Amino acid sequence: MNVTEVQEYVPVIGLEVHAQLLTKTKIFCSCPSTYGAEPNTLVCPVCLGLPGALPVLNREAVSMAILMGLATNCTIAEESVFARKNYFYPDCPKNYQISMFDKPLCADGFIEFELDGETKRVRIERIHLEDDAGKLIHEEDGGSLVDFNRCGVPLIEIVSRPDMHSAEEAGAYLVMLRKILRYLGICSGNMEEGSLRCDVNVSVMPAGSSEFGTKTEIKNLNSFKAVEMGIRYEIERQIEVLKNGGKISQVTNLWDSGAKKLVTMRSKEYAHDYRYFPEPDLLPLEVDDEWIDGIRTKMVELPLERERRFRKEYNLSSYDASVLCSEKKIADYYEELASIAGDPKLSANWMMREVMEELKEQSVSIEQFSLQPERLAGLIRLVKENVVSGSAARDVFKEMVKSNESAEEVVRRLGLEQISGEGELEKMIDEVIAENPREVERYREGKIQLLGFFVGQVMKKSRGKANPKLTGEIIKRKLSG
Ligand SMILES: [Zn+2]
Repeated sequence: MNVTEVQEYVPVIGLEVHAQLLTKTKIFCSCPSTYGAEPNTLVCPVCLGLPGALPVLNREAVSMAILMGLATNCTIAEESVFARKNYFYPDCPKNYQISMFDKPLCADGFIEFELDGETKRVRIERIHLEDDAGKLIHEEDGGSLVDFNRCGVPLIEIVSRPDMHSAEEAGAYLVMLRKILRYLGICSGNMEEGSLRCDVNVSVMPAGSSEFGTKTEIKNLNSFKAVEMGIRYEIERQIEVLKNGGKISQVTNLWDSGAKKLVTMRSKEYAHDYRYFPEPDLLPLEVDDEWIDGIRTKMVELPLERERRFRKEYNLSSYDASVLCSEKKIADYYEELASIAGDPKLSANWMMREVMEELKEQSVSIEQFSLQPERLAGLIRLVKENVVSGSAARDVFKEMVKSNESAEEVVRRLGLEQISGEGELEKMIDEVIAENPREVERYREGKIQLLGFFVGQVMKKSRGKANPKLTGEIIKRKLSG
């Protein structure tokens, strides 16, 4: 696809995201909603849809949905109504899903995010609550097994308006949506485990047109990469069809992550008529101001606000601010570190390099990281006060990760105090000058880039302990004399 083709057609993209809520129990019964238990061990008559069993709404699930509604600038309905969405499928023992239809809990909000330095806003049509279905496990011999543990786990469905116009934009929206869910602590956001699922609607229209084209749906997108690849693939396919004079038919496509292509699942002509009607076993859900105000007090500073504050308050680059705000706990760690160490910039450098690398290497989260902000701040202070050199400090860091020692203790144990005494430095510098007469000559002839070479030699001689700045100054002084 070349650039002119993209300009001839405008893609229009909307996302429907399902997020599993991190409640202790399921939405309509008291079974635990834990992930990864032995199949069919977390079930009861309610979530198995046995005759006569009645649902009881989980208040915590509603509170979490409202929290998400507030975080995405939605209006919270005073009264919302659960509805039956009727369909038959082996993983749905009730033969219907309890969802919300014409009266959702949250509506008319928006999410903002930044893409290529520009602020984008995607409107949220609605956020509603529903119960999850079970899981089918397909065996190699062709048989299928059902695990009902996931039946009744609370979901929120977040439906965007078709406000996105490229795969990158849809990807950035989804990243921000996931960050918000995780900041609020209401969803793990793990796409591989299915706790965050994304369906996409895509259409294209001729540039300048205001009438949307026929949209198709993409399901089964189980990673951020799949979302962007699937959208890109579908946009190209639709443009190709239209350019050849064809028509787009309303279909649902499945993303085949192995083959990296879309497979048409069903034509919408055969799509379900869900025969929605109000759920007779549940009262309309009433939410008063007191409830909403109580939830508002739990609101945290959201990722985009925090990123912007980090840039301003700590003078960080957009990139650094976005990495440091990628997770709430990482941002919390950084702020604590910066405040104890008294140096936001230097603290950010240590976070971006050593800390992030170490987390990746150990495959641990920041909460599991052995080196807490106070101890690391101790090391950063030693660097700032020139007690240890930058390179020696990295060795100290490695030692501190493995032990409970303070920075001072490790520096003392390894004898890594930086040499800043002029006398001691001069002795080593004189040796280096004596050992490299040819370089000295070239330096004096004007090849001043050799300064780095001399500093390097002194660093080597001191086993990384020489103060590089001071060393450079002394060498310059000696060689110009
Ligand atoms: Zn149950």
